[in-house]
Amino acid sequence: MRKEKYQQMIYERMQAEFQQWGERDCILEQELYFFLHSLKGTAGTIGLSEISSISSEKIAPLEESGKKEWETSEWQEYLAPLIEGLDFYTKNVEVSHGENVEPSFAKLKPKKDFILVIDDDIAFMTFMKDLLEKEGYAVIIAHNGQRGLELIYEIKPAVVFLDIMLPDINGFTILEDIVNKVKKERMIVAMISENDSRANQIRAYDMGALDFIAKPIDQEILLSYISNRLMYKKALERSIIMDELTQLYNRKYMNTSLQQLIQQFERKEEPFVVAIVDLDYFKKVNDTYGHLVGDEVLQSFAALVKKVTHEQDISCRYGGEEFVLLLPNSTTDDASHVLEQLREAMAQKLFSAKGEEFQVTFSAGIAQATKENLHPEKLLEEADQALYFAKQSGRNRTITFGSHVEDVKHRLKVTIIVVDDVYVVREMITNYFTAWQPNEKYEIEVLEFSDGVSFLQSDWYVPDGKYIILLDGMMPIMDGLDVLKKLRENHSSNNVLVSMLTGRKSEEHILRALELGANDYIVKPFDIQEVSERILRLINRLYG
Ligand code: GH3
Ligand code: MG
Ligand code: MG
Repeated sequence: MRKEKYQQMIYERMQAEFQQWGERDCILEQELYFFLHSLKGTAGTIGLSEISSISSEKIAPLEESGKKEWETSEWQEYLAPLIEGLDFYTKNVEVSHGENVEPSFAKLKPKKDFILVIDDDIAFMTFMKDLLEKEGYAVIIAHNGQRGLELIYEIKPAVVFLDIMLPDINGFTILEDIVNKVKKERMIVAMISENDSRANQIRAYDMGALDFIAKPIDQEILLSYISNRLMYKKALERSIIMDELTQLYNRKYMNTSLQQLIQQFERKEEPFVVAIVDLDYFKKVNDTYGHLVGDEVLQSFAALVKKVTHEQDISCRYGGEEFVLLLPNSTTDDASHVLEQLREAMAQKLFSAKGEEFQVTFSAGIAQATKENLHPEKLLEEADQALYFAKQSGRNRTITFGSHVEDVKHRLKVTIIVVDDVYVVREMITNYFTAWQPNEKYEIEVLEFSDGVSFLQSDWYVPDGKYIILLDGMMPIMDGLDVLKKLRENHSSNNVLVSMLTGRKSEEHILRALELGANDYIVKPFDIQEVSERILRLINRLYG
């Protein structure tokens, strides 16, 4: 049975017990003890840690076989946090879908906007509860300041009505305590009091209350007020997570959503895909037609994204002309399909500016969440690597991370061997070519030797290999021409090409090298970029 199912059972048991106790005049302390004892153990075991800790706090002062009689009002007061929690649970969680049950009060997701009323006037609280619940709001009441404070942190209500005169903590003190939380969560806090003196109102606004409502209140005004404020809150919240230009989600929201998807994966192993999309040569669009036209392209692209993605997909502007799509409940096949639709739509779209028509394409990389890469940065990095391959292999395409591993296997291997006694030259060439990736077709490996003898004696050669040897002409003991002569005794130009590195420009020396079987020569000092172009030509010749 799933954990959630047990959690549901616990709530049901609590409910049954409270109901049964409620039908009696009083209960014995040992019953209370026994109940809390078993609740503490079971709740902790199945992930209801909050219930467990409340239970252990409440059990501490009790005697195991205590015979003291607890009246209904007494034990209800004593167990108020548990009773409220249960109340909250039964109202807000669809218990029939056990899988959706979250493991703690604090994490329970409200179905609707929560309104918290902190007030000690029972009649007023009942009135508010009835009025607001009839309108479809979820209402929670706290009869003192301490409980109110706890609920603000636990439930994060959308609206808080805060009385000033409370039995324990003054309303202003509560306001002071929560003001940062209020700002962060964009809670709407309204002081509500009979005492609407100027001083109180000014103090409330100065301290960060959004409104001051005088008692007695007018029902209709209150309802209009609430819906007005909730709409404002929603608009504000929307603006915080949206990118203004494209009206897609922003990067911040993407990060939050990605975290959530990861948590869901951990709980339910629900597959999802991360895609990074980057417009091709977008700088050129800006340079040619100006930034405003660039902006229009971004907006049109975003519109196409909205058109091809599904409702549950989360499309975000990651920054500049880069976008991230989060596709819940999808595999890479699903994602490829969506991106292919998007690619076609975008490639077909004609933009016009300065009397010309032009098209803009994009490249994309996708990564599927697995147990191994279940971290936001890792997933984004994989998608980004795939994107890099998409760009490298010609743009206007989507590549799935991992799929190019196959390509890597089929890549043509070339070994570049540097033989030079001058450390600086050798290191420069080695470092450059180790990082070199001329194109997707070739895989480059670099070996280095500081003299001809150690090179010839090493086991650098395997029969199927393809080699390009950069051979210094001037070296002690065996100079380059000697090495070349020896090399050509065993290896032909079929798979071993030699380029001499020569400081001597003399035609005679070069001619001699070519006679001995060199295929090219590079004159020192050289430009490494130029060298790489020459080497690429040699590589193409090896695989010609
Ligand atoms: P590549 O195909 O390799 O991605 O080339 P690229 O030109 O698209 O890539 P690069 O990252 O060099 O250029 C991105 C450009 O996007 C640079 C920047 O001026 C432009 N850009 C970024 N944000 C905006 C924006 O909000 N509006 C406009 N118009 N341009 C933007
Ligand atoms: Mg780009
Ligand atoms: Mg870019």
